[in-house]
Amino acid sequence: MFDFNALNEITQNVKNDIKKNIDIDAYSLWFEALDVLKITDLVIAVSVPTAVKQINIESRYKNLIIQAVKNLYDLNVQAIIYNTQDGKISKERVDADERVLIVRDVKELEPPAAFRDTSAENREFGEFITNNNNKSDINRSFSLEYTFDNFVVGSSNRLAYKACTIVAQYPAAKYNPFFIHGPSGLGKTHLLYAISNEYSHQFRNARVLYTNGEEYTNSFINSLSEANRQQKQQYLQYFREKYRNCDMLLIDDIQFIEDKESTQEEFFHTFNALYTAGKQIILTSDRAPRNIKTLSDRLTSRFESGLIVDIQPPDLELRIAILKLKSKDMGIKVPDEVLFFLAENISTNIRQMEGAIKKLNAYSYVNNTSITLELAKACIADILSGTEPINVTVEKVLSLISQMFAVPQEELKSRKRTKEIALARNVAIYIIRRITDLSLPKIGKIFGRDHATIYSAVNSIEDETKINISLSNKIEEISKLAKN
Ligand code: ADP
Ligand code: MG
Repeated sequence: MFDFNALNEITQNVKNDIKKNIDIDAYSLWFEALDVLKITDLVIAVSVPTAVKQINIESRYKNLIIQAVKNLYDLNVQAIIYNTQDGKISKERVDADERVLIVRDVKELEPPAAFRDTSAENREFGEFITNNNNKSDINRSFSLEYTFDNFVVGSSNRLAYKACTIVAQYPAAKYNPFFIHGPSGLGKTHLLYAISNEYSHQFRNARVLYTNGEEYTNSFINSLSEANRQQKQQYLQYFREKYRNCDMLLIDDIQFIEDKESTQEEFFHTFNALYTAGKQIILTSDRAPRNIKTLSDRLTSRFESGLIVDIQPPDLELRIAILKLKSKDMGIKVPDEVLFFLAENISTNIRQMEGAIKKLNAYSYVNNTSITLELAKACIADILSGTEPINVTVEKVLSLISQMFAVPQEELKSRKRTKEIALARNVAIYIIRRITDLSLPKIGKIFGRDHATIYSAVNSIEDETKINISLSNKIEEISKLAKN
């Protein structure tokens, strides 16, 4: 929370911005008495004096508030509107509502099962905070699926697993900081979630903050980017409080701060503040601390003063065990010979193995066939052989779409929204999503849009194909050509 004076000023700024975008009578009627109660990177909470105002803003004017925050602070927030008719709004209530909103937002963005990403990014897109009084909200969190119970232990990850369980039970006692490293797709994020779940279960009032190197960096840079000096100070202060005000801080993929000097500097302070206050810090990275180039010596030696464990690629036995568990969890029947085949052939990345099962499942579902060895061989040929680079495929899709929809290729990435261009663009997005392993955010980058837009484009085309045979045929044809 900002302090009272800061909130006063933010309230003024927000109202002034709204005033510019609405006629003055409507402004005085609905917004004159608005107060900002809280603002974070994700949420703005405001109050108005009556239920009528609340309902009206909620249904008609909410966007003005959201847009004002975007204009003023370059933050993409959701808005919560309260009315004070029934009394003062407590901080606890706002905090709880904020969590629900954040969790719900993430949930809604999950792609449909058949298109679920094989990369972890969909569930790794941000921070979450648990602060536990309201367990049911948190139960909705996507990260709760990852626990110690569904982590399969073998010789390559036993040490990491064991250390994680100890840290969850005895935080800040033995291993602090705790650093896990290993190549992508071997369960680091899974273990972080498992720790945070176990820990919040044990210590119900503890405040756990999960984030990743990228979020942390962006959040820090945002706090610096404010033009107005005074606001900048407030943001920085907000940033600092946020990361220092927790009992356990987990930062995934900390290697992201490589090369980012001022972020490293700031992290050093975050680190020290938490460490000296006896709070647990847990970090993961795709390599050992000393191999993170440009990581300042100070940080490296801090990391090394705690416990560092690594995760190695799984052996065959572990791979089969994991595949068995995953297919069971997904509720699909995969014959042993197929599991064995997958385990034999995909050896270094568990995420890829999961992706293969999902793909097989989607394929057998759509074509109404059972999962056989032949199907597996055909269906995951690309994973096995490493297909042509994805960007070649993307280029092919764009060029085919441009021809078939008679839309210039550069318009596909433009902001133009005429019906023809928007349709062609959405179909391109849909096909890319279907035939590549690119995540929503990555596809978003290609088209200069955010993941939510990509997600809704995919959905809208998917719905359309159900009723529009000619479109659906066109898509099949383009997909086939693009894959060759
Ligand atoms: P990383 O963060 O190391 O890139 P993730 O934690 O995202 O990897 O793991 C990728 C996928 O593999 C996740 O779905 C995770 O649940 C699964 N996974 C990895 N290791 C195991 C394991 N030992 N047991 C069960 N699932 C695992
Ligand atoms: Mg990860």
